[in-house]
Amino acid sequence: MIPMNEPSFRESVDLMFNRAVALMDLPPGLEEKIRVCNATYTVRFGVRLRGQVHTFTGYRSVHSEHMEPVKGGIRYAPSVNQDEVEALAALMTYKCALVETPFGGSKGGLCLDPREYEEDELERITRRFAYELAKRDLINPAQNVPAPDMGTGEREMAWIADQYARMNTTDINARACVTGKPLNAGGIAGRVEATGRGVQYALREFFRHPEDAAKANLTGSLEGKRVIVQGLGNVGYHAAKFLSEEDGAIVTGIIERDGALFDPEGLDVDAVHQWIAKHGGVTGYPDATHTAEGPAVLEQDCDILVPAALEGVINLTNAERIKAPLIIEAANGPITAGADEILRKKGAVIIPDMYANAGGVTVSYFEWVKNLSHIRFGRMQRRQEEARHELIVKELERLDRYLGDAWSMSPNFKTKYLKGADELELVRSGLDDTMRIAYQSMSEVWHDRSDVEDLRTAAYIVSIDRVAKSYRAKGL
Ligand code: GLU
Repeated sequence: MIPMNEPSFRESVDLMFNRAVALMDLPPGLEEKIRVCNATYTVRFGVRLRGQVHTFTGYRSVHSEHMEPVKGGIRYAPSVNQDEVEALAALMTYKCALVETPFGGSKGGLCLDPREYEEDELERITRRFAYELAKRDLINPAQNVPAPDMGTGEREMAWIADQYARMNTTDINARACVTGKPLNAGGIAGRVEATGRGVQYALREFFRHPEDAAKANLTGSLEGKRVIVQGLGNVGYHAAKFLSEEDGAIVTGIIERDGALFDPEGLDVDAVHQWIAKHGGVTGYPDATHTAEGPAVLEQDCDILVPAALEGVINLTNAERIKAPLIIEAANGPITAGADEILRKKGAVIIPDMYANAGGVTVSYFEWVKNLSHIRFGRMQRRQEEARHELIVKELERLDRYLGDAWSMSPNFKTKYLKGADELELVRSGLDDTMRIAYQSMSEVWHDRSDVEDLRTAAYIVSIDRVAKSYRAKGL
């Protein structure tokens, strides 16, 4: 995706890192230690499929072990390569530091197009890959905990967890070796939607800072904002769905592999999602204008642009023509370093990937903690919470009787309130809190320091500072 004449993805991440580090006062040498990837393991393995041995190439890169376990997804795509996996692992380090999940950064990938294989074939490939990684502790609840990424999901995570458990029958914490598992295999409520949910919470927090919104020439809230989403995968779909259904934003454009849909009145995100699931793309969708020139829709007029698919989609070839005053990087690295500079000069505000898509790893953290504690969230507290709620409701009922017609309890209040928070509510509130606090730490640097021009640099400064502190505290 990244044009040949531009730095690679990893170089792009390094350039952005360097911009931030130039404004910091790190001890000599430490900056390089933080920037470089500690190790990348490449594995080639064979799997017999359809009567023939197929060789697959996979990677697991560990960027920083200032905290362990290290954390990050496993991606299945034909374009996976070492440079990409290392860039993504580096972003995981900064992301985890920014949202204060106690992990180092890692990332994995397997070069294959999952659409070309049957489910049983994918299971054999995944189990073999997991075996290769687990025997080198590159999957391990205490050392390296993968998660879903592009091309993988709950199904693959369940296979990985099971493979690890078979290899480590006495490890009582085996389930914590991977996150993003299905609920019935040790997963947590709200993990599938988490990254998209995080994008929504990030935007809500952005609009709670009118002075920040003003920098993008935007006012008010998300209500009525025109949004273009690129990529209706897990992240893009959930972000678009929540923004349109819950915040009154209007999704005017959806860009997919085979073109884009456009409707100034707003697209029905669920209907488009279902169409894609059935037909494999947006072509033929009846209720909107379709164009085969998908990437051109990135350049359409809108208030918020949400690149939610691959890296490098906004690059030197199109940055100048991007009109969106606010871009939120739901994907990892969707804007190249060169494009970032152009957009900054044009005055666009970019909510950076390491913050914008941190919802996934945040809820992964909750899942990992749940697995290690061997108890569902809320199970012990719920009765206590409900008892407290009952007391309050009794008081309100008394008030109700006393005040007569002057005041009455709203009809659903009692049922809603009496039910203590379930796991999904706890996860969502924990995620919301995380996204708010992380935004504030980033935005504070952006405001307080005249030499920090943009949110990305601010985010890097906050993250690098935390990683540096942890290296200093424990020694290298
Ligand atoms: N793959 C996701 C990311 O890029 C999630 C990682 C995780 O949950 O560990 O952030």
